[in-house]
Amino acid sequence: MIIIMRKKILIMLSVLGIACRLYAHEGMWIPAVLDVVYDDMKGLGLKLTKDDLFSINHSSLKDAIVLFGGGCTAEVVSDQGLIFTNHHCGFDFIQFHSSLEHDYLTHGFWAMSREEELICEGLKATFIVSMEDVTERMFGGIAEGMSGEEASRIRESNKRQIEAEASKKSGGEGVVRAFDYGNQFFLIVTRTYSDVRLVGAPPGAIGKFGGDTDNWVWPRHTGDFSVFRIYANENNEPAAVAAANRPYTPGFSLEISLDGAHEGDYAMVYGFPGRTEHYLSSYAVDYIVQKSNPMRISMRETSLGIIDRRMKEDDKVRIQYAAKQSDISNAYKKWIGQSMGLSRFDAAGKKRVAESDFEQKISSLKENNYGDILPSLETIYKNSESVNIAREGFIEYVFYGPEIFSFAHQLVDLIVNYEMISSSGKLKDKISEIKKNARLFYKDFDLSTEKELFVSMTPLYRQYVDHSMGPDVFNRYLYKGKTDLWENTAELIYAKSFFSDSSYYFQMLDRLQPKSFAKIEKDPVYNISKNLFDVYYIKIKPEASAFNFQLEALMSRYVKAIREMDTSVNYWSDANSTLRISFGKVEGSAPRDGMDYTYYTTSDGILQKSEEDVYDYKIPDDLRSLFERRVFGAYGENGQLRVAFTSSNHTTGGNSGSPALNGKGQLIGINFDRTWESTMSDVFYHPDICRNIMVDVRYVLWVIDVYAHAGYLLDEMKLVRYSSEKAESK
Ligand code: ASP
Repeated sequence: MIIIMRKKILIMLSVLGIACRLYAHEGMWIPAVLDVVYDDMKGLGLKLTKDDLFSINHSSLKDAIVLFGGGCTAEVVSDQGLIFTNHHCGFDFIQFHSSLEHDYLTHGFWAMSREEELICEGLKATFIVSMEDVTERMFGGIAEGMSGEEASRIRESNKRQIEAEASKKSGGEGVVRAFDYGNQFFLIVTRTYSDVRLVGAPPGAIGKFGGDTDNWVWPRHTGDFSVFRIYANENNEPAAVAAANRPYTPGFSLEISLDGAHEGDYAMVYGFPGRTEHYLSSYAVDYIVQKSNPMRISMRETSLGIIDRRMKEDDKVRIQYAAKQSDISNAYKKWIGQSMGLSRFDAAGKKRVAESDFEQKISSLKENNYGDILPSLETIYKNSESVNIAREGFIEYVFYGPEIFSFAHQLVDLIVNYEMISSSGKLKDKISEIKKNARLFYKDFDLSTEKELFVSMTPLYRQYVDHSMGPDVFNRYLYKGKTDLWENTAELIYAKSFFSDSSYYFQMLDRLQPKSFAKIEKDPVYNISKNLFDVYYIKIKPEASAFNFQLEALMSRYVKAIREMDTSVNYWSDANSTLRISFGKVEGSAPRDGMDYTYYTTSDGILQKSEEDVYDYKIPDDLRSLFERRVFGAYGENGQLRVAFTSSNHTTGGNSGSPALNGKGQLIGINFDRTWESTMSDVFYHPDICRNIMVDVRYVLWVIDVYAHAGYLLDEMKLVRYSSEKAESK
């Protein structure tokens, strides 16, 4: 009977295109409300109670989980505030501290004492204090029949009140977050520490081994980790960076297992997944696969072609553009994998089947209030296509293409709002902020690379984006009025602009007064920047937001309707950068015909891949020698040093750096990626195909201890080994 039920539900869910707990591995679960999946977790091997995982009354695993820098996760591994995250999550800061003299990107960095730890200005570490379902309070005062605008005004005011109360009561920061397109709301109280210092990073040949070639790919051999430390004031509270701060004492620090991860073991990832969209309609999937991804992929392919070459040609550019290159290439390759996966599994087609099933179901309702949803979604996607392309094209061009226009816009902003800023007494601060940003900008700016980006990306931007939505600004500056002489146009624009040269720029800032505005306003970069952003703010953004407002309202009703149609399913809420647990098993995969991947890789694979002349696969001699001599210390297993492994945990961007934990909640790895075939999982999860990739924590410890001789850091950690029934502390 149970089996028949299970089968029936599985069939129905696969038709709906939505998976549930019966697939066991799909989903990113809210740790504060785990009831619906806790038995499944236990069934797979979890040994902890719900309270061990998440409690607001006593210390629990959640107190070791850190939102790192806004977009990644980290975990506390010592009672002195030491945290692990990915190398690629700490990359901006490793790059920031690097120069030709101190090339930490290439050689790595290890603070051999607290004094040597490097301050990372702007880096924040956030802990979750509590999470509480406030859906009922958020809907308080909203009556049936109210207009969407009115309801949203009331919700906004409820939100403000709940947040204010929470922040006052807790001393932390209270924020109400919407889940499932506003069908559910949680109040999340956080505490954020802003003195976070770099403690260690392996050389690029470990932390970025395989580079872009291996990114999103299994088999993988990247030691993708870095080490930071959180500092607090003498009361263990958040404090601005100060010499007097001391290492933060956490509510909980993870034990680190030396036992490793083995096939079939329970594994969970605890962190802050960024964004998934598993309820998207077929129209949205079509838009992604046919329009959005092709444009974004081709724009990034173009910029990467230039940046990659320039980084190879010039060592200074290699350091200057390292972090930008990583940012661009990471999403670029992900989108290619995503499009391939969505097409291969005909995600849009499956959604269409689910949608007709949905229509059939609602048509049999006594009172069908949902009949307009799918037709309206179709219309919205059709009508918003060109503005959405304009919005995405603007972002790709201005933030991932030539950099000068977004940089120039702070000055545009200052000049346009000069009177207001100066009469509010904020002028001096504003100018010093602009100068500070300019110092950071010019440190990593190479004019030749910039011009090449302009020459190649501007015509692409003009090709994809409707001319009324931005690109026409360039017509004024075209060399001889021609649209095929972009190199000459670039020479004209950049040679005439004071933004191209840092000394002119600073001089101009020093002498800035209203009288000089007329001259500045003639600058071509100033003008293009102003125009691009004006069109964006006046036209593109409002139009796109209006569509988005309608879309969110429809999706909210769609999700509600799907859930009402079948209440036997444990639905999960799309990721939204809030704390989640994904669970599954350590397992390999057979993603394509003829492929059958083991679930782990070893240092032997690094030796096999290594190639002296290939940048992504070049390793230093001392590393090679340790591998060849098999100096694995306490971290080997059966004569091998395991490097990475895969599990069936549903993860996404933002889970980078998340702890991979065994059934006892001990650290077994650091999550850093998914296989290429899994990149579709933000929209469409396939339990047989989708696998996340983690670096084996024993490899992390080996690099710190044996390779980098920073073993003193391990003295702070709790290393446990149960396989030999003895706990050891180094
Ligand atoms: N590698 C990813 C990231 O950059 C993690 C993932 O999406 O699985 O965030």
